[in-house]
Amino acid sequence: MPVPFHPPERILLGPGPSEVSPRVLEALSRPTVGHLDPAFLGLMDEVQALLRYAFKTATPLTFCVSAPGSAGMETVFVNLLEPGDKVIICRNGVFGGRMQENARRIGAEAVMVEDDWGGPVSPEKAEAAMKKHPDAKALAFVHAETSTGARSDAEALCALAARHGCLSIVDAVTSLGGIPLEVDGWGMDAVYSGSQKCLSCVPGLSPVSFSARAVEVIRSRRKPVQSWFLDLNLVMDYWGGKGSAKDGAKDGTKDGTKAKRRRAYHHTAPVNSLYALHESLLILQEEGLENAWARHARNHRAFAAGIEALDLHLPVEESFRLPQLNAVGFPAAVDDAALRDTLLQDYGLEIGSGLGALAGKVWRIGLMGHGSRRPNVLLCLSALGNTLHRLGHQADTTAALTAAESVYASTD
Ligand code: PLP
Repeated sequence: MPVPFHPPERILLGPGPSEVSPRVLEALSRPTVGHLDPAFLGLMDEVQALLRYAFKTATPLTFCVSAPGSAGMETVFVNLLEPGDKVIICRNGVFGGRMQENARRIGAEAVMVEDDWGGPVSPEKAEAAMKKHPDAKALAFVHAETSTGARSDAEALCALAARHGCLSIVDAVTSLGGIPLEVDGWGMDAVYSGSQKCLSCVPGLSPVSFSARAVEVIRSRRKPVQSWFLDLNLVMDYWGGKGSAKDGAKDGTKDGTKAKRRRAYHHTAPVNSLYALHESLLILQEEGLENAWARHARNHRAFAAGIEALDLHLPVEESFRLPQLNAVGFPAAVDDAALRDTLLQDYGLEIGSGLGALAGKVWRIGLMGHGSRRPNVLLCLSALGNTLHRLGHQADTTAALTAAESVYASTD
């Protein structure tokens, strides 16, 4: 007989979902209201304003797709590309491959630019592809490759795309809130993210933002978007169109009440999840975006020092390393599955395995959002050190903790 589900206590230091703060969980449990209730429409406006803060954009079409990061990716691809269009896709890990699959299903031609897994996207290779394919409509790349822990130079890639007349499509699922990201400053045309990484909200939402240029491309499509649910020409009337906060002042009411009422029903928004996202974005704003980036960087430095003291290694070159997703290489003699099982059973600690070409070679250890905290860094290092030791490997846990603490002491 089924009984209510009470999840085990876990500390989520994998590639996502990340730890959700108690404040966000409390927001999630507030009473549900109708998704067209004036109070809820006000909350949608605030979510949009907070997302503009997080993305560093003033773009009106900034909102949240009611589905996970993959749906954000698909929203961008199905709206900007039409059958026969050409798109240059940079692949340096798993998620560039998912972009290729999106393009294929649309009937668009994907020109793939391949880079090593664990390294960044090469702007030189991307530019060579744009020169070779001047008819390409867009350049797409992953800012923070969660499958490898590598950061690409989004600013340089977007500048190149603009120079070659391409729209820039940016996967910021793991970067938003964790490392510098400047949607307007770097000239991004379409960017999507996820709620469950550095925003530390519950999974299942995908913040997105589109430039005026991208909106124009969507409005002047030759054919309707093949997905009804993701068609922004329809979604815009619900989230970003006539009833947007931008229109509020123009309707003669102080808070834009009339404009809000014009929001047209498209689908039933995930009301409680949006309470949660609102709370997580408030937390980010209270801390300050730049402070959040600095916190992620500091905890990463302490963690990296501890990992090296455990005689493990970080295969991603330092200048491209993501502070929020640490790829940690381990000796071939270590039983990967046994170690991760022990961490989960004995410490309630979840870390991720390697993906694709890196399976069995690295762990992926996330220090994302609310999870990027000193106690988590120290717990993870001591759990790793003790477990390696128990499984018969050399590991000096005390040295690891001392190395991490000395980074904290030097940056106090
Ligand atoms: N893109 C990147 C870089 C990701 O890391 C992920 C998820 O891990 C996705 C896209 C897909 O997001 P979701 O799993 O929320 O659908």
